Amino acid sequence: MSLVVQKYGGSSVADAAALRRVARRVVETVRSGHDVVVTVSAMGDTTDELIELAHEVTDSPDAREMDILLTAGERISMALLAMAINSEGVPAQAFTGPQAGVITTEHHGRARIIDVAPGRLQRAIAQGKVAIVAGFQGLNEETQDVTTLGRGGSDTTAVALAAALGADVCEIYTDVDGVFSADPRIVPTARKLARITYEEMLDMAASGAKVLMPRCVEYARRFNVPIHVRSSFSGHEGTWVVEETEAGGDMEDPIIAGVAHDKSEAKITVTGVPDVPGSAARLFEAVARADVNIDMIVQNVSATNTGVTDISFTLPQASVPDALRAIEADAEAIGYAGLATDDAIGKVSLIGAGMRSNSGVSAKFFAALRDAGVNIEMITTSDIRISVVTRAAHLEKAVRAVHTAFDLDTAEGEAVVYGGTGR
Ligand code: ASP
Ligand code: MG
Repeated sequence: MSLVVQKYGGSSVADAAALRRVARRVVETVRSGHDVVVTVSAMGDTTDELIELAHEVTDSPDAREMDILLTAGERISMALLAMAINSEGVPAQAFTGPQAGVITTEHHGRARIIDVAPGRLQRAIAQGKVAIVAGFQGLNEETQDVTTLGRGGSDTTAVALAAALGADVCEIYTDVDGVFSADPRIVPTARKLARITYEEMLDMAASGAKVLMPRCVEYARRFNVPIHVRSSFSGHEGTWVVEETEAGGDMEDPIIAGVAHDKSEAKITVTGVPDVPGSAARLFEAVARADVNIDMIVQNVSATNTGVTDISFTLPQASVPDALRAIEADAEAIGYAGLATDDAIGKVSLIGAGMRSNSGVSAKFFAALRDAGVNIEMITTSDIRISVVTRAAHLEKAVRAVHTAFDLDTAEGEAVVYGGTGR
């Protein structure tokens, strides 16, 4: 007998019929002898709709009230799923994030889980009940307010529950059959990965692969929770996200895990920055004060005798107004000539632990982009990843070209996207 934590995403619980289907799957898992704890996302596009609604009421919704609003989405699905499971003859009880003991930091809209006190869930399990937990939410103990974990946060709820309960596996049910070598919505010949290491998955997620939230992978790696990403629609074996040693590390392992892409970033270029010690520090201190997360940074070599240089960096599109305001407020201290924003950029990343021990990977990557006629605007690398910025309009062909160049295409038939928009 084992303990299984299952997470069902928004497209798996999109309507009443979908909820009943999920209920039957949970009941099957119970009947095959497992203890089951379930966490759910909001139904379909509920979260997006609630956000839109808030913006119809006001231009700047208060972060605390926004969290109260958004947590309602997951509470609807948890209650309905508990009812559906009960009606199948298996006792189930729904718990909000705070009731389930999910304790977070106070940052509304992007709180981090600090701890899970799983007493109530353990009591429910001991009584033979299925515990259904609202994903994406928790409680801050100082303020006694509910918080949300950031978009896609139910993945993190699932892993945190699995870690706190000592579950044998955390199953993440989604609308595709697992983690693919590229987004199957863009690359229909993408292959399903049988397994991927935490490290690779973390880079895939941080580089735009939406199948798992980066924070959830970090959490799983820290507590060594095995994640099984699979489809609630097909029941096929999915992708295991595991420690490197368990993943093999043998000759059979592919050098490259996959290609990720991201269209959600923008680029800010600061021109005419004095080429003296301290300029970059002043610029990025200003950006940091605005609490903006920066991704890539490129500083040009200053042209001969000008004494000034240009610095470009990428950041989430949504953070552009905050970043610009912060830089403009420090304009005098930084002493730049101009500011330009470009949000028509895309980022393509190639990820694979095998890069460490194989040469020629970047050359092949750049050659594939050249052959596809894609210009490279910025480059960054880590030991297991290469990322480049391109025009947004070239992003999809760039992803396909790189995927083909690294022999990742499969002939086994097209990947199935069972539902949802992947957002
Ligand atoms: N419902 C939230 C979202 O749409 C959380 C989640 O689905 O994981 O981002
Ligand atoms: Mg998700």
